[in-house]
Amino acid sequence: MQVPANFEYEKATTVEEALALLARHGEEARVVAGGHSLIPMMKLRLAQPEALIDINDVTELSRIRIEGDMLCVGALVRHAELLDSAVAGEHFPILHDAERVIADPVVRNRGTVGGSLCQADPSEDLSAAFGALEALAVIRGPDGERTVSLREFHTGPYETVVGPGELLTELRVPIRPGGSSAYQKVERRVGDWPLAAAGAALWLDGGRVVDAGIGLTAVRAEHFVAAEAEEALRGAVPSEEAFAEAGRIAAEHCDPVSDQRGPADYKRHLAGELTTRALRRAYERLQA
Ligand SMILES: Cc1cc2nc3c(=O)[nH]c(=O)nc-3n(C[C@H](O)[C@H](O)[C@H](O)COP(=O)(O)OP(=O)(O)OC[C@H]3O[C@@H](n4cnc5c(N)ncnc54)[C@H](O)[C@@H]3O)c2cc1C
Repeated sequence: MQVPANFEYEKATTVEEALALLARHGEEARVVAGGHSLIPMMKLRLAQPEALIDINDVTELSRIRIEGDMLCVGALVRHAELLDSAVAGEHFPILHDAERVIADPVVRNRGTVGGSLCQADPSEDLSAAFGALEALAVIRGPDGERTVSLREFHTGPYETVVGPGELLTELRVPIRPGGSSAYQKVERRVGDWPLAAAGAALWLDGGRVVDAGIGLTAVRAEHFVAAEAEEALRGAVPSEEAFAEAGRIAAEHCDPVSDQRGPADYKRHLAGELTTRALRRAYERLQA
């Protein structure tokens, strides 16, 4: 039987309380949200926190709301809640596309947006989706609040800028006119992690692309985005050729590895094709 090492357990009901508990227990304390990544790692002794700070009762982190020109998604929002959110889907259909293909209902009912991003698995879907949308991550710590671009949030596999004693509290996604988005994923079986996936966001003005966001996951794209492909689209007239060229550039600039999920050249091919398809779908939505 897999059993975690001994740990202390504390429950917080506010962000302040969670931060105070993190400070009291020091560097070896970890936050637990859905527990779908952390608990299996503890059972395998890949993680051995000395204290778990349970944030499941911190209801202020569970809200999805519009504030000014931002969609704000609390860190404790469950995958299933984001999938059910009409306001999120209306502004950013990419979030519904991605949530629909993350794991299964059991994981989606408990796993959280913040837990996914903080786990920073290199195959994580929401990093590519929020990366394409140029989202901002709000982090609270003993010194107050700071906001970081999601493109600077991940510092490596399973590593983020959230330090010991800090809490990711919210994702903020700017709502800009003339935009739409989409997410495309290939997995081995339904509900599995991706072999490769691509998210695309397009913003048009006067028949041209004013900005594009392209997120990639599972193919070792730096910061989960395809920056060179985004650049190639800026100022372009949207067309099948422009989307195919962006896919080609995205495939060229990512760096997939061969593993049990598939060979590197196949993943590279998928990165290009899925980027093109996500751009096409985002554009179709804009035309609808
Ligand atoms: C069977 C299975 C299939 C899956 N398939 C997919 C998939 O297809 N695509 C995909 O993207 N994901 C998939 N996942 C992962 C799933 O999305 C998890 O929900 C997610 O990885 C972790 O979320 P959690 O809320 O359970 O985090 P937890 O396990 O509670 O925490 C994960 C890490 O984040 C830290 N953390 C959590 N919340 C915060 C916070 N607010 N601030 C600071 N640190 C925090 C924890 O300390 C821990 O280090 C799968 C998981 C399982 C079990």
